[in-house]
Formats: sequence, C-alpha cells, structure tokens
Amino acid sequence: MSLARSFGAVVSGVAGQIVVVEVDHSQGLPTVGVVGLPDASVNEARHRVRTALGNQNLKWPKGRVTISLSPAEVRKQGAGLDLAIAMGVLGVTGQIPATALTTTVFVGELGLDGSIRQVPGALPATVAAAQAGFTSVVVPKDNNLHCSVVPGIKVVSYSTLTHVIQGLVHGAESLLPDVDSPIEPEFILDLSDVLGQQQARWALEIAAIGSHNMLMVGAPGVGKTLLAERLPGILPKLDDHESLEVTSIHAIAGTLAGRGSITVPPFEAPHHSSSLSAIVGSVHGQRVNPGSITKAHHGVLFLDEAPEFARNVVEVLRQPLESGQIVLNRSHWRGVLPARFQLLMAANPCPCGNSSPETRQECTCPSITRRNYAQRLSGPLLDRMDINISMPHVASTELGDNSATVALRVKEARERTRWRLQDSPWQVNALVPASQLLAKFQPTVGGQELLDAFRRKSGGLRGAHRILRVAWSIADLAGHQQPDRNDIAMAIHLRERPGMLTA
Ligand SMILES: [Zn+2]
Repeated sequence: MSLARSFGAVVSGVAGQIVVVEVDHSQGLPTVGVVGLPDASVNEARHRVRTALGNQNLKWPKGRVTISLSPAEVRKQGAGLDLAIAMGVLGVTGQIPATALTTTVFVGELGLDGSIRQVPGALPATVAAAQAGFTSVVVPKDNNLHCSVVPGIKVVSYSTLTHVIQGLVHGAESLLPDVDSPIEPEFILDLSDVLGQQQARWALEIAAIGSHNMLMVGAPGVGKTLLAERLPGILPKLDDHESLEVTSIHAIAGTLAGRGSITVPPFEAPHHSSSLSAIVGSVHGQRVNPGSITKAHHGVLFLDEAPEFARNVVEVLRQPLESGQIVLNRSHWRGVLPARFQLLMAANPCPCGNSSPETRQECTCPSITRRNYAQRLSGPLLDRMDINISMPHVASTELGDNSATVALRVKEARERTRWRLQDSPWQVNALVPASQLLAKFQPTVGGQELLDAFRRKSGGLRGAHRILRVAWSIADLAGHQQPDRNDIAMAIHLRERPGMLTA
C-alpha cells in the first residue's frame, strides 16, 4: 500500500477553500473510488484524469485506487480539482517525487488530451493558497493574469500535465500568459459630460465622500442615469484587498471579461425586470452565482426606475444595506456572500414622467396611479436614502468640474474622515454607528440646536443620526472641524423627500 498527498482548492460561496487530496494505492481489483463529499463533476474526474494521463504517456496505477478529499464537510464541486488529483496519482506512482507536492496548490481542469483548462475559481483559490502559507500555486494559463495580482505567492502556469512534471522536477520554464493578451483598460465615464445639474452634482460628491445612499427624482431625460454612471469615477480606487475581493467575485460570476484586475469600484445596474435571485444570488447544484448586490460589493448598485422593480426585490435590499452581506439559504448550499454596496436609485415623478412642474407636457396619470407609483418605494427603504434630489429639466449648457477634479476633492475629504476615524474599524461616514456618532462626533452647538429641532419636529432619532452622518461628509468636504449649523441645514435639506414621495 502506498499513499501520496497533494493540494487543490475549491470555491465555497465566493471564497477559496484548500482541499487535501490523498491518493491511496493498494493491490486488488482495479477500482477507483472518490470519497469526501464530491459532486458528480468531481466523481467524473477519475475518468478525465485517467484518460489525460494515458494521452500524455503517463501511468495510471494498477489495482485499487482510492481518492480522498478533505475537509470532508466541504462540498467539492466542478472540475478544478482535476489537476490536484492527477498530481496525487503521479505522486503515488512515483512519477513525481512527493517532496514536489508539499508547498504547491494545483488548480485546473484537465482536457482528455492532458491539457490544462481555465476554471472560474482560480483567483479565490490563489488567495486561499497564499493565506494558508503555500509558496506557489499552479493555475491554468488563461487564469494566470488575474491570479498574479495576489501578493505573497508565486503563480505559475503550464499547458499540459507533462509540462507540470518538467517544471516541478527539472525547473523547466513555466508558461507566462501572452504579453499581448488583451487587457481592456477600465473605462471611466467623465462628469464633464453632464451639463448643468449643479445641485445634483454636488449631492453626488457628498454621497461619494460618505458612501451615502441617494435617490434622484426627475422626468425622463434630465440625466439621472448619466449622473449615476459617473459615481465610480469619482470614488477612490479600490485598495489591494478590495480589488482582490471584487476581482474574485467577478471571476466567479463570469463577468470579468477582458479585464485584468478590477481597481475601479464596480457599478451594477440590474434591469427593473430582474428576478429576486438575479439580485441576491443563486445556487445551481453546488455552484454559487453571485447576484447584483454581491457584484456591486465595494461599489455601486444603481436601480434605475426604482418603483418599477418588484416589491420583494427592493425590500430584500434592507438587510444587506445594514449588514454589508447577504445570507443565502438554499437546500444545497448555505452561506454568506459579501454585499457592501452604495445604493443609488432613480425614479420618474410619475408613470408618464410628466408630473413635475418644469415639464411643458401635461401629466396624464390619474391621481390614484400617481399615488400608487410613489408608494411602491417603501418607507423603511426610503428611510435609508440619506440624500434625495429632485432633478429639474434644464436648458443649461454650463460645464462643471471633470471627474478627476471631483475625485481629488473626494479623496481629500475622505482622508479627513479617515484621520478622524483612525482608531475605529469604519472608513466612511455612512458606516459610523449611532453610539459612536453621539459619543465622539457631535456637531457644533449651533448645529446641535438645529438637529434637536429637526428631531422634535419629525420625531425621528434614526433620521437625525443619518442627517448627522451626511453633515459630517459636508464638513469634511469644506474642511470644517465639526459640522456647523449650516452643514446640518444642508444635510436636512438633502434628506427632504421630493414632492412625489410625500404626496
Ligand atoms: Zn404622469
């Protein structure tokens, strides 16, 4: 009896998980068994691996072969374990020394000809391998580009099983991705494309500074979508950790396309006909498909024509808006996916879009239709919208600052925020809990008087906290030490709901 051990990785949710592959070979009838919660695709791996070895003129052991995958409680899904299983088989038959398998994680699907094929979870697998202290990871060539951004681990690629052996044993050159493989630059839409709308632009800047949720109301064509799409371009770039997380999510979702790694905050704009599972994520077999809210992690979720979304779709956002994550509880898989996003919503003033006073056309909606339309956005959700903006029709051709200029102001304001929050786990004003806010981050006396008056009038303590957070962002932009009366007044004004929503 002999035994060999190799390391692979699977994806659980959107995170990588190291899997220990043990291959046991003993005398007996020629059988192959796989143990340790494998799904059908992993079970089929034995046939793929065996055929791939044969086609590369490598030996499959005679007799009884048992392949054990651990930890046993982790579901193993997909073909990404093929390569690790093949390495275990090569180890148990002495075709590769066991010492070559101790510090490397192997990720990849095998073609029947022995070629190594791309898998969706290579990036999170690489992150997990680095975290677990492995010195190198072998990934498919087409995954190399993304995986190479992970710090602290050597990422190598080979085109076939034979090349892997040559590389591990003889130090043969690994395969680097083609230097001319197309990496699309991350495209940033510029704010200078938006004419007029100075107040809405200013509100967007405040929203960017504090990561506040924002609702824009205006007739079709006033530029709500144009403005929303430009938010990522004024937000700070993702830091290395955020970039890895976001790139992993989009690699798993299959939405990375030609991008190398994602460094600009993602912008997700699901259509109003989107299903609940498209928004929160779904599970197919063992495979988790991240929804819009997870793809918007560390970025922006934009709901255009928000009242047109199904009520349950909009309501489900309340939990991730508070916790920054979504709990998926399905029969095959349960777990938590990250979903820390900034919410932008846009709405027409009524179904026909003409009920705002600036439009020259008449609103044709019956009043009952108008009221129902507004009521499709629930009170609890509207309470979480810190900034509400009415966007009028403008004939203005006035140009504002471009995105680079605004991004610089946002960055400087956020640096003031972070300096103030340096001993805390929060980095933006919207996330500071109320207890901290009240204990450490009060406004000036004049500001407090105004805030108290607001609270008495509206009766809302939560509302007052939300106003104070926005006021801090206004103060951070202006470089004030504390929000003053004026900053509070502006924050109260930004929170006022547009006419359609109070009718
Ligand atoms: Zn109307």
